Amino acid sequence: MQVLKFGGTSVGKPERMKKIADLLMATPGKKIVVLSALSGTTNALVKIGENLLADSRGAAEREITSLEKHYGIFVRELFSSEAYKAIGHEIVSRYFSLFRLLAAGKFDDRSLRELLAQGELISTELFYHHLQERKIPSRLLPALHFMSIDENQEPELEKISERLGPLIQTLGNVDLLVTQGYICRNHKNEIDNLKRGGSDYTASLIGAAIKATEVQIWTDIDGMHNNDPRIVKKTFPIAELTFDEASELAYFGAKILHPSTIVPAQKYSVPVRLKNTMDEKAAGTLISNKGTRGEFKAIAAKDGITSISIKSSRMLLAYGFLRRVFEVFEKFKTPIDVVSTSEVAVSVTIDDNTFLPQIEDELRSFGSIEVDKNLSIICIVGSRLSEKEGVLKQVFESLGTTPIRMVSFGGSNNNITIVLDTAGKDKALNLLNEGLFNIHS
Ligand code: ADP
Ligand code: ASP
Ligand code: MG
Repeated sequence: MQVLKFGGTSVGKPERMKKIADLLMATPGKKIVVLSALSGTTNALVKIGENLLADSRGAAEREITSLEKHYGIFVRELFSSEAYKAIGHEIVSRYFSLFRLLAAGKFDDRSLRELLAQGELISTELFYHHLQERKIPSRLLPALHFMSIDENQEPELEKISERLGPLIQTLGNVDLLVTQGYICRNHKNEIDNLKRGGSDYTASLIGAAIKATEVQIWTDIDGMHNNDPRIVKKTFPIAELTFDEASELAYFGAKILHPSTIVPAQKYSVPVRLKNTMDEKAAGTLISNKGTRGEFKAIAAKDGITSISIKSSRMLLAYGFLRRVFEVFEKFKTPIDVVSTSEVAVSVTIDDNTFLPQIEDELRSFGSIEVDKNLSIICIVGSRLSEKEGVLKQVFESLGTTPIRMVSFGGSNNNITIVLDTAGKDKALNLLNEGLFNIHS
C-alpha cells in the first residue's frame, strides 16, 4: 500500500482537485490519500479563532462570510451535475453552520482546536464526493478514529497502527481510501492537531503504521531544493537524500516538510518521495536509507531562535556542569538545538520561549546569563562533511564578513550549523548559494 499526501495548494483549486483524481486513477495499487485543507483555509480559521478569542465577533463573522463565499465558488466549479452541486452546497452550509455555532458559544482553546480541524474535514468530504460523482470507488477513512497524540503531544504510533489495521478492514475491499491530514485526538480524546504543516507528518505516521511501500508528498515544487526558494533566486531540486539529511533540513526550516515528517518513515525504512502536483513528470526527491554522495547537499534556515549564554567560573575544571544546565531545559520540556562551549561558558539555542523566564531564573544560580533573541539558524547539510578537507574554509569564505554568533560542526557527519542575526540571514543564504554551489544570481 502507498500513502500519497496532497498539500494545500494541490487541493486549493477545483481543477487541481480534479487533477489529483486523474493522477490517482493512473496510479495502480492500493492507496491511502491524505489531504490538507484548501490553501488559505487554515490561515483563515486561525484568524477567525483569534478574533473569537479576543471577543471580536464582528471581525470573525466577516471572515466566516468571506470564506463561505470562497467555498460556494469552489463547489460550483468542482462538481458537474446539479445533483452533486447540491450535495456540495449542503456540505459547505453544514460546516459553516458549525463555525457559526462555535462562534456563538463560549470560545476557548478547545473550541479553537475544533475549529482548526474543520479545514481538512471539509476538503476530504468535498474530494470524496468528487470521486463519487466520477464513479471512482473510494471510502473516507476518518483520521479522528485512529490518529492520536499523548500528553506530551507526541503521536502514539503503536496505537495508531493497532487501530488502523482493523479500521481499514471494516471499509471493505477498495483501492482508494481518503483521510484527513493534520488532525488528531489528544490524550483527553479532544480534537487536536499535529501543528501547522502537520499533514506531511500524518502521511509519514500512516506510512510507518501500515509499513507502506512508499510515502509520497505531493506539493507545489519539484522536490527538496538545495536552498530556500522563497529567499534565494536560483535553486535546484535534489534527486536523492538520506533520511538523516532530509530530517535535518526539515527540522531546520525547509518548509516543504513538517519538521518531524521523516522520523516515523525512517523508523520503518519507508521511502519518502517528494513530487510536484504542477509537474507530475519531474523526478522530485527520493528520501531513503541510500542517498548519494556529494559534498554539500542543501541549506535550510529557521528563524525565531533565542540564544542563552551561561558564564560561570564554576565550570572551570568541573564535571557535571553541563548536565546540570541541560537538566533545567529538560525540566521545562524545552529542546536545545545548538550548543557551543568554552572552558567557562556555554551557549545554547532554543526555538520555544514559552518557559524562557523560568529557565533564566534557574540558570542564574550557575552564574551570569545573557539572552539574545531574533536569531536564525542556518543548517548546511551534506554527506560525510566532517571527512572532507576544507569544508569549513569554503563555508566561511562564502560568508565573507557576515557576523556569526555560533557555529556547530562535528556533532554529526552531515551538517554544519551556524547561528546569526535574522537580519543577516537572507544575504547569508545567497552568499552560501554562490560559494557552495557556484550559482550566481
Ligand atoms: P503544501 O501546502 O503542499 O504542504 P508547503 O507550502 O507547506 O506546501 O511546502 C512547499 C513550499 O516549501 C514550497 O513552495 C517552497 O516555497 C517551500 N520551501 C522552503 N524550503 C524549501 C526547499 N529547500 N525545497 C523546496 N521547497 C522549499
Ligand atoms: N492545513 C494545515 C496547515 O495549513 C496542515 C497542512 O497543510 O499540512 O497547517
Ligand atoms: Mg506543508
